[in-house]
Amino acid sequence: MRRTVFYCLVCQESATRRNKREGIWVMIDLRSDTVTKPSPAMREAMARAEVGDDVYGEDPTVRELESRVAAITGKQAAVFTCSATQSNLMALMSHCQRGHEYIVGQVAHTYLYEGGGGAVLGSIQPCPLPFNARGELELDEIEAVIKPDDQHFAITRLLCLENTQAGKVLSADYLAGASELAQRHGLRRHLDGARVFNAAVAQEVEIAEICQHFDTVSICLSKGLGAPMGSVLVGDTALIAAARRWRKMLGGGLRQSGIVAAAGLHALEQHVDELALDHARCARLGQALRGMATLPLAEVTATNMLFLSEMVNIEDLTTHLSRAGILISGRRWVLHRDIDDAAIEDIIAACRAFRA
Ligand SMILES: *Cc1c(COP(=O)(O)O)cnc(C)c1O
Repeated sequence: MRRTVFYCLVCQESATRRNKREGIWVMIDLRSDTVTKPSPAMREAMARAEVGDDVYGEDPTVRELESRVAAITGKQAAVFTCSATQSNLMALMSHCQRGHEYIVGQVAHTYLYEGGGGAVLGSIQPCPLPFNARGELELDEIEAVIKPDDQHFAITRLLCLENTQAGKVLSADYLAGASELAQRHGLRRHLDGARVFNAAVAQEVEIAEICQHFDTVSICLSKGLGAPMGSVLVGDTALIAAARRWRKMLGGGLRQSGIVAAAGLHALEQHVDELALDHARCARLGQALRGMATLPLAEVTATNMLFLSEMVNIEDLTTHLSRAGILISGRRWVLHRDIDDAAIEDIIAACRAFRA
């Protein structure tokens, strides 16, 4: 039996005694859906991948991934990137020039969690607005910050949305409205769709239905889809060609990257439908927590995230759960393909035993 030793992040004790799944001893990790490990079948697909030098455009597996993602998103072209941070930045720098501005959420990944890359490396000014409770930027607030043509102002060039936003799915009506507003004002439209497949699965729509409202979409393969790394940026041919140049400058020109693109292709073929299981497990966990007075909830989303209320003593809970072999990172709990039904029941049992 393969044994992986994990250590509890809080008490530093070995956690190997605590959880046994499929012959491997592991922690149950609710911190993020980035923690998924490539499955044996995915590793096999990676080992079998045909490769070439992708900077010369000669990696057949990367090309296949790019053409597949372009086709399913209904776009002309796609480019494989190291990370979603990189593909978002490539999109910002391709849509905007120095002195341009993009409208974005205050807590959007493309504003708050990417090191200020748009401003630092692109000389692009962010114009952050608060997300409402549905994860939307209010249309009238967007309209109010679009700058008139006046030499005092930066040139408003791009609207950047996020879907899912903190696990929330943007409605088709909202997307259509935001898209119409942007076009009416001559703005380009970028979607940070790191988890856009979660949105499509939750809404039971094709991914292209969501992507039709945007000029570019960045899609992460290494979140719930379970690949070890990589994202794809899709858009029209000219924009993706520009983005490819930025990718090279940003250090993202890879060589035999078909090895990892193969993991992405495998994920697209095998893992998309299974996102529904993560959503169902999130709902099941949320329902169980609702019955526990000690663990009030702030929100259970329609996808793979739930949020505990601010009233929960998170330090005590983190210590308690880590002793049961469960890792959390604050109040956001994220379900993913390495958390199965048995793990959900273990989490529920550990939560029941928590005394605030
Ligand atoms: C994780 C994430 C990113 C960045 O992904 P990396 O691959 O870690 O760079 C971008 N946007 C959103 C919404 C994310 O959740």
